Amino acid sequence: MSKVLITDYVHPKLITQLEELGYIPIYKQGFDPNTISEVIHDLTGVIINSKIKMTSAVIEKGVNLKFIGRLGSGLEIIDLEAARKANIAVINTPSGNCNAVAEHAIGMLLTLQNKLLSADAEVRRSIWNREYHRGTEISDKKVGVIGFGHTGQAFARRLRGFNPTLVYYDPYVTSIASDVNYCESVDMSSIYKCDIMSFHVPLTDETKYMLNADFILKCTENPVIINTSRGQVVDTKALVEGLQSRQISGACLDVFENEKPHTYSEIERNTYNSLFSMANVVVSPHIAGWTHQSLEGISDVLLNRISQLT
Ligand code: NAD
Repeated sequence: MSKVLITDYVHPKLITQLEELGYIPIYKQGFDPNTISEVIHDLTGVIINSKIKMTSAVIEKGVNLKFIGRLGSGLEIIDLEAARKANIAVINTPSGNCNAVAEHAIGMLLTLQNKLLSADAEVRRSIWNREYHRGTEISDKKVGVIGFGHTGQAFARRLRGFNPTLVYYDPYVTSIASDVNYCESVDMSSIYKCDIMSFHVPLTDETKYMLNADFILKCTENPVIINTSRGQVVDTKALVEGLQSRQISGACLDVFENEKPHTYSEIERNTYNSLFSMANVVVSPHIAGWTHQSLEGISDVLLNRISQLT
C-alpha cells in the first residue's frame, strides 16, 4: 500500500494523477505538523508545505519513505543529508512558481515606485493629490538581483522590458538561461551601488541576515529593497532603522522573520508597527509564489518527478 500524505491544499489533478500512478493519496489539509513522526512509518511519500519539518529524527522513522515532495522551492525545512543517506528522493518545485514570484516582485516594485497604495486610498476619499504621487521610473535604474536561480532569473527576464541596467550576485549559480545571459555577474561591492536590490536566495547559514546593518551602511544609492525569498534573509530591525534614516528609500516585503502575527513578542510588535506605518513600504503575506497558475504548475512538476520514480 503506497500511501502518500498531502498536508496542504493542492490542485485536484495531484490527487487524481497520484491515484493513476498507483498511490493512495491521504489528503489532510491543515495536518498537525507535530504528529508527523506518528504517521511517517506508514508512508511511501509526503507532499508538504513549509509547516512540516522533516528533521533527521522524522526521516529516520520513515522506514518506507521513498520521496519527500515540497510544494514550493525552499528546502530549509528538510534535513537533506539525512534524506540522502536514507535514499529518499527530495523533490522541490521551483520551476512551478518562479514566474509567480517574479510577477509579484515587479508588481510590488511598481506599486512602490508609483505610490499606488496611497494614490488608490486617496482617490477613494475624493482626494486629488497629483504632485505627491509623482512616480519614479525603473528605466534608468541599476537593479541588483541577489541569488540568480529560478526566481532571480524569472525576475530579471520580466524586468528587462523596463530597460534598467541589470546585474546579479550569485557565486554558486550553475545554469543561466540564454535569454538572461545579458545580465552581468558582479561581486557584492557592485551590488551595494544598485538603486534596487531584489533578494532571491535560499535561507542558509550564509544568507541569514544577509541584509543587515553593515550591508545597509555600504549601500551608496539609498536603494529600494525587495525580499520575496525568506524573512530571515533580512534583519528586520536593521531594515526599519535603514528606512527611518532614509539610507534605504523603500522596501517591498512578501516574507518576514515572524509570519505569525499572533505570536509577536513586544519587541517584534514594535518593530512591525514601525515598518507597517511607513508609506514607502509595500507588504504582502507570503503570497508571491501563490497564483492559480502556480498551484497547477507545482502539481505538474511534482507529478512529473514522482512518475519517474515509479
Ligand atoms: P533556486 O534554488 O532556484 O535559486 C537560489 C539561488 O540562490 C541559486 O542560484 C543559488 O546559487 C543562490 N545562492 C545561494 N546562496 C547564495 C549566496 N550566499 N549568495 C548569493 N546567491 C546565493 O531558488 P528559487 O526558486 O529562486 O527560490 C529562492 C528563494 O525564494 C528560496 O528561499 C525560496 O524558498 C523563496 N521562494 C519564496 C516564494 C514566495 O512565495 N515568497 C516562492 C518561491 C520561492
